Amino acid sequence: MLKPGSTIGILGGGQLGRMLALSAARLGLHCHIYSPEKDSGAFEVVRASTCAAYDDEVALAKFANSVDVITYEFENIPAKTAAFLAKRKPVYPDPHVLELTQDRLIEKNFIDGLKIAVAPYAPVHSASQLMKGIEKVGLPAVLKTTTMGYDGKGQIKIMPGDDANAAWRKLKNAPCILEGFVNFEREVSVVAARSADGKVECFEVTENEHRDHILKISTVPAKVSPALATEAKRIATKIAKAFDYVGVLAVEMFVVKAQEKGKAKQAVLVNEIAPRVHNSGHWTIDGATVSQFEQHIRAVAGWPLARPIRLGRKVEMINLIGAEVHDLADWLATPGTSVHLYGKTEARAGRKMGHVTRVYPK
Ligand code: AMP
Repeated sequence: MLKPGSTIGILGGGQLGRMLALSAARLGLHCHIYSPEKDSGAFEVVRASTCAAYDDEVALAKFANSVDVITYEFENIPAKTAAFLAKRKPVYPDPHVLELTQDRLIEKNFIDGLKIAVAPYAPVHSASQLMKGIEKVGLPAVLKTTTMGYDGKGQIKIMPGDDANAAWRKLKNAPCILEGFVNFEREVSVVAARSADGKVECFEVTENEHRDHILKISTVPAKVSPALATEAKRIATKIAKAFDYVGVLAVEMFVVKAQEKGKAKQAVLVNEIAPRVHNSGHWTIDGATVSQFEQHIRAVAGWPLARPIRLGRKVEMINLIGAEVHDLADWLATPGTSVHLYGKTEARAGRKMGHVTRVYPK
């Protein structure tokens, strides 16, 4: 268990690192942010920061020497960086998790291997595999690059009659995964924390609405049956255990209509795993007795987790994307609303500038 006053090193300097550091400060823990980007929003809320490339071994060694444990807010940390640091200080979650989640195909194989339902999928490394994949999963389908995709980048929907090869060319013939298009009823996620001694605490199932492939609104409670909520949490717990995970992870899922003995019911398919705190868990800062950020800090510090309890009959998190941040004055004047801005100066289209949380009283 880290003593108060210890220092947690965080790789990545975006809003997730910033909110982790703010939570750590409340618990009397210091953070040292390591990020290659000069204008990282997390730098301004910590007392130590390093702005250097992920392959700068001199800077990495110095960083490792100055902290007690290391974590990350960004899953595309190069494997070599994580391995270099892990030789010097404990890194949580263990870097093997990065290898399993940085590549969509490896991740899907892993989930499938746990006997957890996913959309039908096939690897695409050649034109002939693309054709075979279409035969297997059918159309419409979604072609996704196996690495570096986020917020809908690196993916194309292929409709019946479309030129599938042209879609793949648009993705620069990169290694891909073809997924059957899921006609989902809604999208949900489970944010789960696992402590160093293996205890798991899940936040409530959260319902997520995307606009232009970017998360726009998260709502709790989600409109799912109690049985589905239990199943969704069971899946997230199973994944956290299988990874021997320490920290917070998020599992994004599709809710689909299914039939059981002639009766309609909801079923769940896992879409993807984020080995970090997640945008769909931001509501927990104002809407629960413990936030996802604090749970992550507790876990990597070797502290016990808290059992989260929701505040309010309903909680909504609304992302302020691009120019929406200019509605600030309205949000500041809305009762029951908390505003969070990430310290970014340029409101570029599609950029997450902040979020607001609305807690509806019980
Ligand atoms: P991803 O980057 O895999 O999280 O995908 C981003 C968003 O695209 C998801 O949240 C869904 O809204 C949509 N999407 C991704 N994969 C599929 C799929 N196989 N079927 C239907 N919609 C999908």
